[in-house]
Amino acid sequence: MSFLDEFKKYDHGEVLDRILSKTAQDVEQALQAERPSIEDFQALISPAAERYLEPMAERSHKITRQRFGNNIQMYVPLYISNECTNGCVYCGFNANNPVTRKTLSLEEIEQEALALHRQEFRHVLVLTGEDPNAVRNEDLVAAIRKIRPLFSSISLEVYPMDVAGYRDMVEAGVDGLTIYQETYDPVLYKDLHLFGKKRDFLWRLGTPERGGEAGLRRIGIGALLGLGNFYVETFFTGLHGLFLAHRFWRTQVSVSFPRIRPAEGGFSPLYEVTDRQMVQGICAMRLLLPDCGLTLSTRESALFRDHLIPLGVTQMSAGSSTAPGGYSRKDEGTGQFHIDDDRSPEEISRVIRAKGYEAVWKDWDAAFLVENVS
Ligand code: SF4
Repeated sequence: MSFLDEFKKYDHGEVLDRILSKTAQDVEQALQAERPSIEDFQALISPAAERYLEPMAERSHKITRQRFGNNIQMYVPLYISNECTNGCVYCGFNANNPVTRKTLSLEEIEQEALALHRQEFRHVLVLTGEDPNAVRNEDLVAAIRKIRPLFSSISLEVYPMDVAGYRDMVEAGVDGLTIYQETYDPVLYKDLHLFGKKRDFLWRLGTPERGGEAGLRRIGIGALLGLGNFYVETFFTGLHGLFLAHRFWRTQVSVSFPRIRPAEGGFSPLYEVTDRQMVQGICAMRLLLPDCGLTLSTRESALFRDHLIPLGVTQMSAGSSTAPGGYSRKDEGTGQFHIDDDRSPEEISRVIRAKGYEAVWKDWDAAFLVENVS
């Protein structure tokens, strides 16, 4: 069974109606459940749960401490290309945008990786646009092999591949995949992805499963918040996470909460997602998926990120640049979007420590696996 079978069981309009009809009593019942059902999850993300944020946050904090201790895994994005043939209306790399395009050479990728390594990063997320003339699977394999010795964990956030492609990546040393559905609404999806391969909603929907089949150890999903209705998008993200966690129980599933940021092209969010809704979504996701990683990037402000640390977040980026060449050479390609939290990794580390947590730069799971295999 694939997630598509599960997805097809739900009508978007009915899902929204059910969420909007949830009552305070439904929320209280959901909060008492040992493991919330998908019905309970609908109550937890509903407007009726807005006045229960405090008990939700308390439970989320407690569960996260039990499952993850006081560790916050740090990572950093490494953009190797901003060339793209797709027309995603919300993205600065959209093929129609007149931005400075750049694909890094192997040597430049190594320079970027060394710059990050010097800042103590050992967990890197490699990103590209989608342009087979700029970056092919074999180029990625060569890049991964080049930088592999510098990092204990390499994840990809690139164009979707087939299972064989992901197997090649695993063999080269990739252990994680991040792939956002952007929106789980197929009609809206077509409106927002005007041309290019990314227009294929179903190919994208099946991508996390293809990564899981290829043996990737971490899979991250999410909806781009501000595109579709917050309640419906959060519901389908949770449903997707639940499915993946059951089907690939050896894989660490994580959920991100990327909120739309200003970017080249000037796209404005279609739905406003408030800070309170973000908090609600994060806490509800933790209650539904106790073992799931929850990721927060530098898209959010420093102040907001600091407040979210104790509520269930387990992975954070720091010191990020969204432009290819942005770490070792400051004059390279245009960035994908403007980040909000531009503090240095050291500053973020200090804040994390002050809140009673430990910023973890190395992926100890990977070290453990390698030591046990060799
Ligand atoms: S979101 Fe990805 S695929 Fe779409 S335009 Fe941006 S880089 Fe290209």
